[in-house]
Amino acid sequence: RPSNVYEMFNQSAVKFPDREAVIQDGKRISYYQLKNIVEKAAGNLQRLGVKKGERVAMLLGNHIEFIITALACAKIGAVFVPLNTKLTINELSYMIGHSGAVAIITSKKYLPEIGGWVKKSSLRLCLLIDGKEEGWLSFQEEMGRAAVSFGVALTDQMPLYILYTSGTTGLPKGGIGSHINVIHSAISYREVMQSDESTRTLIAIPLFHVTGLIGQLFHMLLVGGAIILLERYSTVPYIQTVAKEKATFLFNVPTIYIMMMDHESFRNHSYEHVKTIAYGGAPISAETVKTIRTHFPHASLHNAYGATETTSPTTVMPREYGMDKIASVGLPVPVAEIKTVKTDGRVCAPDEVGELYIKGPMVVPGYWENDEANKKAFDDDGFWKSGDLARIDPDGFVYIMDRKKDMINRGGEKIYSIEVENALYRHPKVLEASVVGMEDPLFGEYVKAYVVKKPESDVTESELIQFAKEQLADYKVPKEIEFLDELPRNAGGKVLKTRLMGMGSH
Ligand code: ATP
Repeated sequence: RPSNVYEMFNQSAVKFPDREAVIQDGKRISYYQLKNIVEKAAGNLQRLGVKKGERVAMLLGNHIEFIITALACAKIGAVFVPLNTKLTINELSYMIGHSGAVAIITSKKYLPEIGGWVKKSSLRLCLLIDGKEEGWLSFQEEMGRAAVSFGVALTDQMPLYILYTSGTTGLPKGGIGSHINVIHSAISYREVMQSDESTRTLIAIPLFHVTGLIGQLFHMLLVGGAIILLERYSTVPYIQTVAKEKATFLFNVPTIYIMMMDHESFRNHSYEHVKTIAYGGAPISAETVKTIRTHFPHASLHNAYGATETTSPTTVMPREYGMDKIASVGLPVPVAEIKTVKTDGRVCAPDEVGELYIKGPMVVPGYWENDEANKKAFDDDGFWKSGDLARIDPDGFVYIMDRKKDMINRGGEKIYSIEVENALYRHPKVLEASVVGMEDPLFGEYVKAYVVKKPESDVTESELIQFAKEQLADYKVPKEIEFLDELPRNAGGKVLKTRLMGMGSH
């Protein structure tokens, strides 16, 4: 087992120098070339003053510069902080500030959102991957200079990245992915998916979530496979690229498979080269799994369950299984220890539903500078409390039944209700707000808000939606707002969200 993530990549580069490492927009880079580029970038980051342990924020779609920066950080012991490109400046500035980043790497297209804030911030190094602007250096120029990095002592327990997730308190929490976490997760994927240097994956889901980052990127860097990048998911280019690049391994949230198989151009191609299909990040319906099976009869299908905190995966559906297990997220990977627990702390019997607790070398050591969350999220034996309600059948297969955490899963993007509620509460005419997930055929869930207005005041649905938009990323903004005279509550005063969900949509 490699002792750090750079060594993990380097082993592949030494073994498979001529194999394709990254393909983007028709440009092909071999493992040998990638290694040279990364080594230069590592030396240049040091030249520009980035030290071991310091944080480097990245606000990027799926670009090769993301991969170069991640590996260069791994080499010099710096910590990269991938940011969700859909977020607003409120959300981004919190994450950049909280992580204490000294550098940011981004693209011109995000400058209207963050440029002004960055200027006033204490960031020491600002790099643009596509050109130059006042106050910004060019990534190409700076990283392309001749430079040799000096050696830095790395341990496998060191943080490699900080990935912010929505938080139960409404503030994002930074999950710390260590080198050892990533190595274990990548090895688990290789074992279950039986991938090797001939594996070719198309990454269209974001590299700033663990599925793309670990399930695809670091997994491929471990085995020496090819990484085909699309800046972001879009159905037609996705379908064309899968066919053109003869991708062998697809990994997406369920929504993407639904969109793709529904599209008229899907039938223009054949997909015999696709050997492995994985899905995760959100519940998938049996119907969608069956449709995937019909269209990709040669592929092995794997439901994979995980979270930012487990650097994914925790459970994966094995290659061979009966239709009776179709609703399962599979068996725990060999290094994962799991249990289901009742609210009183009792461990569940087989088939009994309880909260899923997870432990193992792929579970993050904790959240960045957040003692309170660290205390709450782990039990005394070091198990991470997932907030998912699950059942483990007598054969050990896991079924995700429901959620304990008050979270909405919109096509894999997680939204904590409290964050949206807080945004609505800031409106002077809102007395009460409660936000729930409603069923959606494509995204799984959409955001709906129930609002009680202050007496004698008036505000419309569209005004409130606009108000939320100014504070929140688009995917978090309620699609519908319904006004009520009062919120349904239990005797203890707690809002009955299940009743709100049952009230139906417009
Ligand atoms: P990504 O954000 O890359 O999709 P992720 O979904 O694994 O990764 P998080 O965003 O942290 O990571 O979300 C984790 C939550 O997503 C889990 O707690 C669970 O509620 C849900 N989830 C993840 N995988 C599955 C799955 N295969 N089936 C059902 N729910 C899932």
